[in-house]
Amino acid sequence: MEYPTTLLEAVKFFSNEETCIEYLASVRWPSGAVCPTCGRFDVSYLKSQKRFQCKSLHAKRQFSVKVGTIFEDSALGLDKWLPAVWMIVNSKHGVSSYEIARTLGVTQKTAWFMDHRIRVAMAYGGFNKLDDPVEADETYIGGKTTDDKGRFSNKSAVVGVVEKKKD
Ligand SMILES: [Zn+2]
Repeated sequence: MEYPTTLLEAVKFFSNEETCIEYLASVRWPSGAVCPTCGRFDVSYLKSQKRFQCKSLHAKRQFSVKVGTIFEDSALGLDKWLPAVWMIVNSKHGVSSYEIARTLGVTQKTAWFMDHRIRVAMAYGGFNKLDDPVEADETYIGGKTTDDKGRFSNKSAVVGVVEKKKD
């Protein structure tokens, strides 16, 4: 998947829901999706439902790519969130909530909230919700990608995105 290098490309790139799902999944789960309930690695993707499904029979065996992230409880789609992330990660001199609002067609208040939420999450190394202190800590400390801890690799993934851009 080619990561966009300009803002225009980013907005276009993330306007496709499948692309958003594929991108976010690759950032969160570089070695493949992981079931948030039981930790299984061999989950399947249900294309028609745009959801993942664990092979174990337990409650909540289906989950979305947004599960456990700052995007999960938001009414805003990934087509708004991910370009906002792109703007924040790729801006050399900082991006204002006014610029985010203008670019994404959301209110300035919404843009401020997104900006704030993204920055706080990224300070902890990824997109994980911060109401789970254990996960936030593990993400923060364990920034490196390892096979058995693939799901805690958000930090290196975000950094990887920035580095890729310099190519
Ligand atoms: Zn499971």
